[in-house]
Amino acid sequence: MEQDLCKIGIIGAGPSGCACAYFLGARENISLIDFREPMCTILPTGGGRCNLAYSEYDFKELAKNYPRGEKFLYSIFSKFSTVDTLEMFNKIGIDTYVQDDNRIFPVTNNSKDIQTAMLNSIKRCNFIKEKALRIEKIENRFKVVTDMNSYMFDKLVYAVGGHAGYEMIKRIGISVIDPKPSLVGLISKEKLSDLMGISISDVYNHNTGLCGDILFTHFGMSGPLVYKISSIKARDSFPYDLEFDLCPKLDGLQDILNLNPHKYIKNILSEYIPSRLSEYILDKLNVDSDTKCHMINGRIRDSILEEIHKFKVEIISSKKDGETVTAGGVDLDKINPKTMESKEVDGLYFCGEVINVDGFCGGFNLQNCWSTAYVSAQGVLSN
Ligand SMILES: Cc1cc2nc3c(=O)[nH]c(=O)nc-3n(C[C@H](O)[C@H](O)[C@H](O)COP(=O)(O)OP(=O)(O)OC[C@H]3O[C@@H](n4cnc5c(N)ncnc54)[C@H](O)[C@@H]3O)c2cc1C
Repeated sequence: MEQDLCKIGIIGAGPSGCACAYFLGARENISLIDFREPMCTILPTGGGRCNLAYSEYDFKELAKNYPRGEKFLYSIFSKFSTVDTLEMFNKIGIDTYVQDDNRIFPVTNNSKDIQTAMLNSIKRCNFIKEKALRIEKIENRFKVVTDMNSYMFDKLVYAVGGHAGYEMIKRIGISVIDPKPSLVGLISKEKLSDLMGISISDVYNHNTGLCGDILFTHFGMSGPLVYKISSIKARDSFPYDLEFDLCPKLDGLQDILNLNPHKYIKNILSEYIPSRLSEYILDKLNVDSDTKCHMINGRIRDSILEEIHKFKVEIISSKKDGETVTAGGVDLDKINPKTMESKEVDGLYFCGEVINVDGFCGGFNLQNCWSTAYVSAQGVLSN
């Protein structure tokens, strides 16, 4: 049965779709179509605390945290940025605080509160718990066919996130950049499972010039630095090599060996790197870990230092289904950044992760949702 419910349809009731409904005025003529509970995707964010934004108030500086979309976001963030995000949350009853590392969270540290507050603020909207399967443009209107019904809209906002939904819009002529996983653990060719569970702080990555924490896992590597590298290299093809300085503060080894001639090399190294890692490196170099320091010759010393300062890993893949966000999505060249309207299909708007924008960890991806939701709502209202 075809129903002429309302004029504005939003496919996807995640953070971007719901925020768009809020900025549209949350009226009865706005329909949100989602087969899942609205705003459920906010629940796991920030480890359940919801890192909703980042405390950077210069929009060009803020945009630097997006490997894809930096320039596109200038226009978006000039209209709606961090301050506006905090005001929006304040209006719907959410107080926020800035953590030491500049990440912003709700004071309750509970993403459920964000879900509840957002849904309260848009409860006048029409929620349709169905899965959109097809979009057709019929003259100036959109027909959305779901698994149960079909609906006609004058304007359509597409906010299905980054994990699916590209085929539906490709069929109506929307250009999509091939999606790739980003902010994800990386699978190494080398078997690093012996190092599983070891985390190291202040590691330097030679390929990107970035510094941060890494974690060895059963599949390879993870942790904040690795996530950031996965984001920067999201569009590189596999395999690729990474090189890490596991202990930048270790400046030469000879003086330390001279000062401790009768200590075991494994114990000396363990003062700088985790003991399991020092055993792993010595084993890799065929050096008995119980060798006394005075027995370590120049060649062995240099190869130990090389392993520590130039630790090489060949990355063969990213961890399947482990991505936090998607690199790729609707081609930004085909979206008007002043309105978020498609340049390819009039009356169709985008917001959130479905577009080819993705940021680092730190609240940047949700900031993209709030900002593009605002601009798309203004675009819908102005046309
Ligand atoms: C574990 C995890 C933690 C994260 N933590 C943070 C964080 O702390 N801070 C941060 O900034 N970012 C974080 N992110 C990223 C952030 O959650 C996403 O960028 C954000 O949710 C994207 O919002 P969205 O509304 O664009 O899409 P989504 O949140 O993906 O919502 C899209 C909605 O569309 C619906 N949908 C999809 N297809 C259809 C269809 N065919 N018909 C109907 N409905 C459909 C889905 O059911 C979903 O509800 C995290 C991501 C993950 C996975």
